[in-house]
Amino acid sequence: MATNGFARIKAVDGKVHRSMWKDGMLKSLEAESTEGFDDRSWLDLVMRGGEEVHLTHAEPLDHHRVEWLLPVARPGKIICLGLNYAAHAAEGGNAAPEYPAFFFRGATSLIPHGAPLIRPRVSDKLDFEAELAVVIGRAGRHLTESNALDVVAGYTCFNDGTLRDYQRKASQWTIGKNFDGTGALGPWLVSARDLPAGAAGLRIESLLNGKVMQSDDTSNMIVTVQQALVLLSEVMTLEPGDIIAMGTPSGVGYARKPPVFMQEGDQIEISISGIGVLTNQIAREP
Ligand code: MG
Repeated sequence: MATNGFARIKAVDGKVHRSMWKDGMLKSLEAESTEGFDDRSWLDLVMRGGEEVHLTHAEPLDHHRVEWLLPVARPGKIICLGLNYAAHAAEGGNAAPEYPAFFFRGATSLIPHGAPLIRPRVSDKLDFEAELAVVIGRAGRHLTESNALDVVAGYTCFNDGTLRDYQRKASQWTIGKNFDGTGALGPWLVSARDLPAGAAGLRIESLLNGKVMQSDDTSNMIVTVQQALVLLSEVMTLEPGDIIAMGTPSGVGYARKPPVFMQEGDQIEISISGIGVLTNQIAREP
């Protein structure tokens, strides 16, 4: 459990609750808002930071009996950085890019913690990628390195699940990165206030069936969170609910000898210290 982490869940009564892990319990925040939450007011709350949220009406939830939802109801732009750890670029025979290899994912590719991660009918080359995800809480354009982090609500775990054969069918990676149900996000959204600046210095790992496959430190990202926000906001307005995935460390399946791809029944976990553990089981596309 992430100390003071925020999460969207569906409780046994079928209702969606914005909630928070506080004092060793998962607590519903729904009664704390008189108008009800939308993503904007939810992310405003997250931006304040766990310590600043004082609960008066919060009700405890049984965290063993909830269905986890994506940390935001309507993710906006999902922008990913490729090749953002030097050792990962090298394991694929790529040079570290001078300008980030940005690409987009659509929201239909996303699934929450606990949902099946889908191996599609047309490919058995489903690979894992542990990533730090930045969740934007405030609009920003033309940000500078000194004010860029002001737009960040918080951070969560991401698995940039990839069909390696489809990734290489064209010069753009879009198709291999956008199969339905292959990008896992969550479960905890931890306020930027409760983490080091730019979420630097955190241990990031992936574990396949309990075995560590990737293990690195977010300080080894080539492009920092601040720099990514500056570069992106030169181009586009960042908006609440946008998500930026910061690239994956070395150790991915396709670069192993022999290669490792995820199979039906496998369990994949993405762990980031101070943020949480994102767990999904692989299922075949029905
Ligand atoms: Mg990636």
